[in-house]
Amino acid sequence: NDEQVLSIHVLPYAGGERLMQVRDVTQSERLDRMRRDFVANVSHELRTPLTVLSGFLETLRELPLEPAERDRYLALMAEQSDRMQRIVQDLLTLSTLESSPPPPESERVAMPALLEKLKRDAEALSAGRHQIALVVEAGDLLGAESELTSAFGNLISNAVRYTPAGGHIAIAWKPQGRGAEFSVSDDGPGIDAAHIPRLTERFYRADLGRSRETGGTGLGLAIVKHALSRHQARLEIASALGAGSRFSAHFPPARLAP
Ligand code: ADP
Repeated sequence: NDEQVLSIHVLPYAGGERLMQVRDVTQSERLDRMRRDFVANVSHELRTPLTVLSGFLETLRELPLEPAERDRYLALMAEQSDRMQRIVQDLLTLSTLESSPPPPESERVAMPALLEKLKRDAEALSAGRHQIALVVEAGDLLGAESELTSAFGNLISNAVRYTPAGGHIAIAWKPQGRGAEFSVSDDGPGIDAAHIPRLTERFYRADLGRSRETGGTGLGLAIVKHALSRHQARLEIASALGAGSRFSAHFPPARLAP
């Protein structure tokens, strides 16, 4: 997979000589393969709910159903269409991140308000099934509020979605060296070490069943990584099977509001 790819051209040269031109196209070949894989993945991810949707549609059209049964089919169809909507929404978020100008270095993002709001969202998603704690000890950030909200929000909602009822989730924003660290820790199932390096790839899931069940698209951590790196922040994942997970983002001093 990581072989070098060379392109070789033999060109006519002055006086009947030949010139051999060798170029290393490994990088562009790799990009091309990534692009092809991505298109194939998107098609596959959208085709599955679409197939289910058209199957139910045909049933509704052809079978005389009792109202209760009809409603059940409609609910299942709504579920599939929601899933497609989430995938398309996440794809749009990713493409916006890829094409918009770098986040401003002068715009102040009020961290206490942002994190309080994300904690309330997490409590709504948890519906009382988890204990959620928040500690805010560092100051405000400089950057794009919408991108930071989506980075932190995705990490927090993952903790809620993957941690079974009765679990604990700790959100923290603390000084670290001259910079600051945002972290979300949970005492959920944890992640096998073999999966960790690939989690931020688009559509990569360590636990497909749980991802589907909880409305995952497999794009959340790709969005997180992208939004963070646009703010010069680094994502770290510390987890092991059975030992919970800790996702943290490390911001350099230049991103902290004076
Ligand atoms: P998804 O939409 O499937 O949640 P993400 O990109 O957000 O996609 O996450 C990728 C995978 O990482 C998930 O499918 C899941 O297997 C794993 N994961 C993410 N967060 C956690 C967590 N807090 N605990 C356990 N596994 C997690």
